[in-house]
Amino acid sequence: MLLLGALLGCAQPAQAPERAPLPTPEGWYVIVDAGHGGFDAGASGADTGVKESELNLKVARLVQRELEEAGVRVLMTRTEAGALGDSKREDMARRGALLQTEGADAAVSIHMNKFSDRRVRGPMAYYQAGAEAGEALAGCVIRSLTEALSLQPRLPNPGNNFVTRVPACPAVLVECGFLSNPEEEKLLQDEAYQRAIAMAIAQGVMAFLEG
Ligand SMILES: [Zn+2]
Repeated sequence: MLLLGALLGCAQPAQAPERAPLPTPEGWYVIVDAGHGGFDAGASGADTGVKESELNLKVARLVQRELEEAGVRVLMTRTEAGALGDSKREDMARRGALLQTEGADAAVSIHMNKFSDRRVRGPMAYYQAGAEAGEALAGCVIRSLTEALSLQPRLPNPGNNFVTRVPACPAVLVECGFLSNPEEEKLLQDEAYQRAIAMAIAQGVMAFLEG
């Protein structure tokens, strides 16, 4: 993973102290997708019933802010609580069209996880299986997240999801944490924690773009 990261970009600054100033992010264009919405609430908190769709939007907007403050142009697939259509089919069609926007450098879809074993916790980053650039992007994002949260390193996970399969650009689906884990369910509703996660996701995306 380290070797892959070094090869595909996202080497840590400490590993390249002589590195030239970072290229200007001007011109970078990133799609940020807040998963679910409206009639499709996604997962729900095991203890509080909080809706995944609401947390996704909060974190996605914070990611948008971080990226925009760094000079990156951002396209949000949704900025409201509602879905992108009246049916799942309509929502997917509109979301898919946005995710295929020409000229995008990366796409990031924000989600929250849920699992039967309530001990399972921590962020995960999925890339479309076989997509080399997507794997590099997901690797940068999960590395940034685990470092920011002082967790053991994790590898990105191969998957087959609409939001990583459809975009023409490298794409990552970020599961910010588990709404089934009692402690994480609380943390994911905490604004400071949401900000920390969003900052780490944005920094991971930037590390990939800078690569
Ligand atoms: Zn989801």
